[in-house]
Amino acid sequence: MKTSPIHYRITCASPEAHLFRVTLSVHEPASSGQRFSLPSWIPGSYLIREFARHIVSVKASAGGKPVRLSKLDKHTWLAAPCKGKLTLEYEVYAYDLSVRGAYFDQTRAFFNGTSLCLCVEGQEARRHEVEIVPPEGRAYKGWKVATALARKDAKQHGFGSYGAGSYDELIDHPVEMGDFTLASFKACGVPHEFVITGRHRADMKRLVKDVKRICEYQIKLFGEPAPFDRYVFMTMLTGDGYGGLEHRASTVLMASRGDMPRVGDEAQSEGYRQFLGLVSHEYFHSWNVKRIKPQAFAPYDLGREGYTRLLWAMEGITSYYDDLTLVRSGLISVEQYLELLAKTVTGVARGAGRLKQTLEESSFDAWIKYYRQDENSPNSLVSYYTKGALAALALDLTIRLDSDGACSLDDVMRALWVLYLERGEGVGEAEWERVAAEASGIDLGRFFELALRSTDELPLAELLAGVGVEMQLRAAESNADKGGKAVSKPAKTLARRPVLGVRTSTENGWVKLTHVLDDGAAQAAGLSAGDLLVAVDGLRVSASNFDQAIECRQVGDVVEIHAFRRDELMVFQAELQAPQADTCVLAVAHKPTSAQRKARRAWLQDKD
Ligand code: ZN
Repeated sequence: MKTSPIHYRITCASPEAHLFRVTLSVHEPASSGQRFSLPSWIPGSYLIREFARHIVSVKASAGGKPVRLSKLDKHTWLAAPCKGKLTLEYEVYAYDLSVRGAYFDQTRAFFNGTSLCLCVEGQEARRHEVEIVPPEGRAYKGWKVATALARKDAKQHGFGSYGAGSYDELIDHPVEMGDFTLASFKACGVPHEFVITGRHRADMKRLVKDVKRICEYQIKLFGEPAPFDRYVFMTMLTGDGYGGLEHRASTVLMASRGDMPRVGDEAQSEGYRQFLGLVSHEYFHSWNVKRIKPQAFAPYDLGREGYTRLLWAMEGITSYYDDLTLVRSGLISVEQYLELLAKTVTGVARGAGRLKQTLEESSFDAWIKYYRQDENSPNSLVSYYTKGALAALALDLTIRLDSDGACSLDDVMRALWVLYLERGEGVGEAEWERVAAEASGIDLGRFFELALRSTDELPLAELLAGVGVEMQLRAAESNADKGGKAVSKPAKTLARRPVLGVRTSTENGWVKLTHVLDDGAAQAAGLSAGDLLVAVDGLRVSASNFDQAIECRQVGDVVEIHAFRRDELMVFQAELQAPQADTCVLAVAHKPTSAQRKARRAWLQDKD
């Protein structure tokens, strides 16, 4: 029996009030009453977001008569039994300028299906169709549509009807609307589009040339054909945006317009390098997490948290391959790659949380910890992105060195990919490690115990030495020193720089403590996150002189600090400490053995 599709008519109703109007038609509602629900979270972003809170009004009707609609819980509705086609009409407020929700104003409209499309429970496997209606008025005549959804009767980049094979597919295809810039290219023969929204003067030719290299490298890494017929990059440029969310055949990115290359500008800024890393990251997810995914995500239960201990593999390995893709495809040099890697090592080394939370715990508790960070987070958690990337590096190098270069993490990823192609369903929690051991032919039991289930440090210096890279840890030169760069001051001098053990921000000219680090001078003195600093040793401090006020003293000196907590002035005595050697620098070894050189070339695929 042929079933009727679920149909959504999405009208860009009011840019001023930021409202989408949705008409949802269900031709065969459940005879005992039809349930509808909206997801509580969006895949790829592990936080309960309660998208239903943006539904402003909702009513149901059938045959021109109202149908009683009862709310069952925060995101579920039940329509009373009715005859014939059941129609739901509702309005959704959309003013979330992020990659995760929906947005509509005079400049653009954007939505994820998780924000706009109520799920018709029990009919998720049916075909779902979306008819998209543009905003009214001459100002919107030039608006186009970008999405990886399949077109039904819509013209290319036009408003009209699009379709998906299921609800799961529908909500994995975000839609961008507006008068955007569009560039098209092919990667390994597959059509790709690069869309930019927001005012900009980016050099589209250069962007396309660079992005194409990333795409082709990754398609070939996993093996042709690519897992999609076409792919769309949707980029929103703002003054200081950053972020991305992966989908099966598209990605939504936020970036800073200042990071885009300009026509005639051949230099590669740090910001542009970071943007290419973001592009690479989200594209890699087309394989790792969108298809190779934990069983807990196959299928996703979007009504509640989806617990898995494998986020380190989904996000950490993706974070490892994002910059690795750039060096392997020749977009950055080996030196630039090692600088990026050293910054990651530095970032992880600076959080005492790495000594308390394992990668598996970090993955499992993402919902309440990584995604809900507070002033104590550096002391209490480790990032499954950054430490996960270092675990991936350590795993890759362990396999390379133990197999004498015969195998690598690439082989593990390809084995996981083949498993997905053969079987489709998700990877079991313990199965991931079994696949890695089988694909590499190496007993990785001890490695996984150390890297995933303990807080012991990863043996990075030793592993990197095996591929001819020297790792050094020194004290920071200043608070702006994020690692990665060699400095002229000798390590002994750096080790004498006194520190207070805090992170700060500037608030209305005040120096505000954002984080007070475990076992540091400030914590011992009783200072807390949120305190506003007034004076050090009786002299007023501001953002411009605070670092100097500390650095002009000696390790062991006691400084008097005045600070406001709430509206109360308090005074603290802090004994300044010596800095930790937590700043990493990586360099290609001067005189590598031929085995080390060969291993490095195989790893980074450089030709030096
Ligand atoms: Zn990611």
